[in-house]
Amino acid sequence: MLKLYNTLSRKKEDFQPIKKGKASVYACGPTVYWFAHIGNMRAFLFADLLIRTLRINGFETKFVMNITDVGHLTDDADEGEDKMLVAMRRDGKTAYEIAEFYTEAFMKDSSRLNIVEADVYPRATQHILHQVNMISELEQKGFTYKTQDGIYFDTSKLSTYGRLSRQNAEDKKAGVRVDMGGKKNATDFALWKFSPEDVKRDMEWESPWGKGFPGWHIECSAMSVEYLGAPFDIHTGGIDHIAVHHENEIAQTQGAKGVLQANVWMHNEYLTVDNGKMSKSLGNLFTITDLEERGYDPIVYRYFMLGAHYRTKQNFTFEALDAARNALNKIRNTVMDWDDPDGECEEFEKRFLNALNDDLNTPQALAVVWEMIDAKLPTSAKAKSLLYMDQVLGLGLKEYVSKEIEIPKEVQKFIDERRKAREGKNWEKSDEIRDEIAKLGYTVEDLPDGPRIRLV
Ligand code: AMP
Ligand code: ZN
Repeated sequence: MLKLYNTLSRKKEDFQPIKKGKASVYACGPTVYWFAHIGNMRAFLFADLLIRTLRINGFETKFVMNITDVGHLTDDADEGEDKMLVAMRRDGKTAYEIAEFYTEAFMKDSSRLNIVEADVYPRATQHILHQVNMISELEQKGFTYKTQDGIYFDTSKLSTYGRLSRQNAEDKKAGVRVDMGGKKNATDFALWKFSPEDVKRDMEWESPWGKGFPGWHIECSAMSVEYLGAPFDIHTGGIDHIAVHHENEIAQTQGAKGVLQANVWMHNEYLTVDNGKMSKSLGNLFTITDLEERGYDPIVYRYFMLGAHYRTKQNFTFEALDAARNALNKIRNTVMDWDDPDGECEEFEKRFLNALNDDLNTPQALAVVWEMIDAKLPTSAKAKSLLYMDQVLGLGLKEYVSKEIEIPKEVQKFIDERRKAREGKNWEKSDEIRDEIAKLGYTVEDLPDGPRIRLV
């Protein structure tokens, strides 16, 4: 039985799908004003892990991930400068060009990390009407009011407001000093923002309330309902979304549709770097491209992520990433020598699945993988079971199990040179070349029947 931790109940629960054998999942996707950093990618790898786990349990999944391509203000309290405008100034592009560029970059990062594709990637800019319609529904039901700068959701009108973060509007008021603008309650939030009169925005639309653009939260309520209905099964995101974004999504959907938006709400903990927050000013904000430029295969980052449970903080260091690379290469090197997949290691498969089904316990699942690799069992059976497990691990092990690795041309050139050096008994040169090969990530072992190439 698959158990998942539900932030709503603060408990691990047996997963009970709404429709037998099916699972509908909505993951809050990226904001596309900049490259996703490796912390953001933790959120998407977590959604990927969930989908793969549902699938290995036999569920047919419908997976929706939104792309936030409308400009929004820099913080949750609807304050600060519009992120899209900041990006436009920085990159010298239009809002639509920025969104297109970073959406594509995000898709590339996802595929390099072997993240499963969503069935739909709805973009906020392409669903303005859905958002306007939902705001109209909220208006008709008396949940909205108008201020100088927009249409707001009145959180005091919804008795269940705060059920996810377990804070009511009163709690939130205490302790937070916010500039209320024209808001009635500190927790109220914008559904529609009016365009400033003197500014022509790249992204603005007509609406029953005047020209403007939607608030951030409404896109996820409107698009999840459009593609998955309400309620749907599981909604995911990073823990920073609990208090505001997801609370407000729940409020909007409850207000407009009269139902709980999703039954299960799951949140990944943060990735820290050097035990602190990532930030550009500290120079520790890395993207997948940064890791690649430092010579890491993105799948190494994927392996690294599997080493921590999604609900624990995970700390990123390059030492930890090196350890992940060594471990992954050890698996790859080992399985290359295995016989063709045949049979299965039933016990290990069961234990692997049990670990995952215990709220996606990947550290435990990895421990089972290693135990199986080291077990004295036929390598053909281990190969078959490892490929079964890799449906969730997503490490691309199919390319390695019982296979000779493809050697890059530049490495092959060194290998040939080294062979010549050895034929001429030039051992010194041979060793030098071996070091060059190691710099490219390979080792050469001299076996009686010729050199054997492995990964370092
Ligand atoms: P954003 O593009 O800013 O909306 O963020 C995309 C996702 O990344 C959201 O689900 C965030 O909660 C999540 N996220 C942001 N920073 C981190 C971090 N350091 N570690 C893990 N998840 C994060
Ligand atoms: Zn969202």
